[in-house]
Amino acid sequence: MSDETKPETPDVPVTPAIHTDAMWDGGPQWVEHLGHEPVWVETKAQYFEELNKRGLRIKGMQESSTGPERLIVDPTSAPPAPIRDFSADDARAMRIAEVTLSRYGLLEALSCDRCFTLNQPDGTRVESSTSAMRVECRCGVRQYRAPAGTDLGGSLASSTLTLADVTDGVAFSPDGAGKHLPTTLLTAEDARVLLAYVRVLRSHRLSARWFCRGCWDGRPIEGHDLQKALTDDKIVMVCQCRIRFWQGVAH
Ligand SMILES: [Zn+2]
Ligand SMILES: [Zn+2]
Repeated sequence: MSDETKPETPDVPVTPAIHTDAMWDGGPQWVEHLGHEPVWVETKAQYFEELNKRGLRIKGMQESSTGPERLIVDPTSAPPAPIRDFSADDARAMRIAEVTLSRYGLLEALSCDRCFTLNQPDGTRVESSTSAMRVECRCGVRQYRAPAGTDLGGSLASSTLTLADVTDGVAFSPDGAGKHLPTTLLTAEDARVLLAYVRVLRSHRLSARWFCRGCWDGRPIEGHDLQKALTDDKIVMVCQCRIRFWQGVAH
């Protein structure tokens, strides 16, 4: 009988952003997804809108300042949990992904979401070998050291560039204009490796920016990484010179 029912659909993201109890119900954990919730969208404009809807800002991208101001997380309200070491499985997944990224002509910069949440520089230093994986940031060190005689796998020496295997694709800019680009199709196995890797990173509150060897000229990394979207059944990476794409079932 009452008309006081409040609509709960946050479909129209109006400033200021939603900062409801619901957002904090899960405690500090939800910030793990800061900027990394896998969202499949068709355009860049839509992509930023999706992030904005969630009250997130996008780190390291010029575009993060566009659009109306929305919620910036106050780090003092929910201190994030401490970091933890990698497991053997984590380290192996990271080693294998390293080879896979290299084969697709991709360079990587890892950053720490926990540092980001704490408003401190979020860069990391990565040391990777057949016996150890180590990522250091302002929070400390996440690492795994294999027992003597154990090999974590992954050897860049054995990697061969697979970019030659191309078809044709179209990338759409925010205004809807299409641009034809050579498109490299990822294999299901490589897709599985990358998806597993991104899951490992996310579980350690790390995130990756990837850069194309073919078109990244070494400019400052901020805002020059390729656009990417990874979901369980689709991977899209768009840089200036090509599209890397996979669609299917990764298992
Ligand atoms: Zn950190
Ligand atoms: Zn490129």
